[in-house]
Order: sequence, then C-alpha cells, then structure tokens
Amino acid sequence: MADEKIEIKHNHEKIINNITEACKLSGRAPQEVTLTAVSKTKPIELLKEAYACGCREFGENKVQELMDKIPQMPEDVKWHMIGHLQTNKVKYLIGKVELIHSVDSVKLAKVISKESMKHNVITNILVEINVAGEESKFGTSDMDANLELIKEIKQLPGIKLKGLMTIAPFTESGEDNRIYFRTLKQFAKKHSDLFDGDIILSMGMSGDYEVAIQEGATMIRVGTNLFGARNYTI
Ligand SMILES: *Cc1c(COP(=O)(O)O)cnc(C)c1O
Repeated sequence: MADEKIEIKHNHEKIINNITEACKLSGRAPQEVTLTAVSKTKPIELLKEAYACGCREFGENKVQELMDKIPQMPEDVKWHMIGHLQTNKVKYLIGKVELIHSVDSVKLAKVISKESMKHNVITNILVEINVAGEESKFGTSDMDANLELIKEIKQLPGIKLKGLMTIAPFTESGEDNRIYFRTLKQFAKKHSDLFDGDIILSMGMSGDYEVAIQEGATMIRVGTNLFGARNYTI
C-alpha cells in the first residue's frame, strides 16, 4: 500500500508548484490564489496530513459531514461549503463556515440571510453559475437571469456577496473549459460594483485548475489531485 503521508505531501507540493507555474504564465502573484482542499468522503487523518502540509482551507459538500469534521480539526481551519445546499440545513452552517460557494437561488439566499440575522453574524457567499449550462448541475447559464439573481441576493441583510463560483464540465482536457472560466471572469469584471470587496472567483478543480488560474480564478477547489480518488461505495 502507498504511504499516504508521503503521498499527500508530494501531491500538495505538486499542486503548489502548478499554481506558481500557472500564475507565472498569466503574470499573477501566487498569493492571489487560494487552494481549497476538497476533503469530502476522506477520513480526518488525511485532512490532518493536508493540514500539516499547510492547508487551512477545507471544502466539503455535505452539511452533516462538515459538522462532524469541524470539531476534529484545529480551530484555525476555514471551512467552505461547496455542495448543493438545502434550505432546511442552512441553520447548521451559520457562524461555522468561512464561505458558502453554492448559492443558486434567491430562496436559499433568503434563508441564509434570515439565519445570519438571527445569530447576529454576516455570512460570506458566492453565487453559483452554471456557465456551461449543464443540466446535471445547479444554477443557470442565462447571464441576464444570473444578473437579476445577483442583484436580488445582494440586497439581503446578513450576507456579503463576495463573488462567483462555477463547476465546469468534467473533461479530459482542462483546456476545454477555458472559455467557461473566461466568461465568468468577464462577467464578474463587468459587474464588479455588485460585489463586496475583492471579487472571489471560485473556479477550477483537479482537472482544470491551472487553466482556471490563467483565466483569473482566485480560489481553486482541489480534491482528487490532493487526496486521491474518492471511493463512494464505502
Ligand atoms: C468534489 C468537488 C470538487 C473537487 O473535485 P476534484 O475533481 O476531486 O478536484 C470541487 N468542487 C466541487 C463543488 C466539488 O463538489
């Protein structure tokens, strides 16, 4: 069996090198890009290995799993909710997460707003945009509709709209997704007045994060390339 300790360290170094390289290619500073370690389905020991490598931002896609993991990790970890979120689960996340990446409706945003107000906190959110218009994914590719969605969400108290997130199609070559990343960046730039502070662009996963960085990603979400393939059967 492979030694996972060495493997995660090795994987992490490789990702950091690739981030640096992608930044160099596009004239950006590596500090502009935050690596979110996507640890869904992975046991806490592996998250601790990633932590030991310097990872402080972790992404999960299920509320229950996130809640289970939070108390098992050091307090300086910043947690990211990256998966589809049901309104009835919002209450568990409030005050616990750094950023909710997956806000895809006014209805969801309203619940986040209401719960945040109730707990007297501000919740940072991203609006999820389905740039490629894939039916299997949440959000829409209709940019006029997205603009309306963003404008409506932005009005709500108790939340800060920090930027946009997209999940590009699964593809053999990350290059295929360049157009989607570019589209999202251009849209964000055009409407930069709608966002709170420096715009966060959460885009790029294991298969395409280098391309996403070249196109302006400020946050990448990497699971497989850091922790290895996920096993959903166990
Ligand atoms: C699982 C997941 C990722 C990580 O995907 P990898 O291809 O394993 O890097 C990123 N973003 C979201 C929203 C995910 O659900």
